[in-house]
Amino acid sequence: MAKPHSVLVVDDDAGVRSLYVDALSEVGHTVAVAIDGADALDRLRAGSIPCVVLTDVRMPRMDGWELSRAVSRDPELASIPVVVVTGDKILSFSSPARDKPFSPRELDALVQRSCELHRTTGIQD
Ligand SMILES: [Zn+2]
Repeated sequence: MAKPHSVLVVDDDAGVRSLYVDALSEVGHTVAVAIDGADALDRLRAGSIPCVVLTDVRMPRMDGWELSRAVSRDPELASIPVVVVTGDKILSFSSPARDKPFSPRELDALVQRSCELHRTTGIQD
């Protein structure tokens, strides 16, 4: 059984958010959601710190890249891995680029790897 982790999913599309929540909950992870980068940052700064953040790119107010930069610049948050998910690829500052994983198994593998990185080395910028 996979080790459970906490994940913050950031996407302005409610349908995509449910996909992630379903897939991640299925393998035992705790999932929180935010509707855009600004919402995510508010949650993080309020003290809800996940193992890893999975974020969409294009969102109102603050996009995925802006969120990733804001997290890496905040000393309180900089060690949290932020994985930026594009339409067909995952681009990440802290784990290898991947095709968009939508099977629970693939998502789980991504979360496990990112969390491992978080614990061992912190973010690589
Ligand atoms: Zn974890």
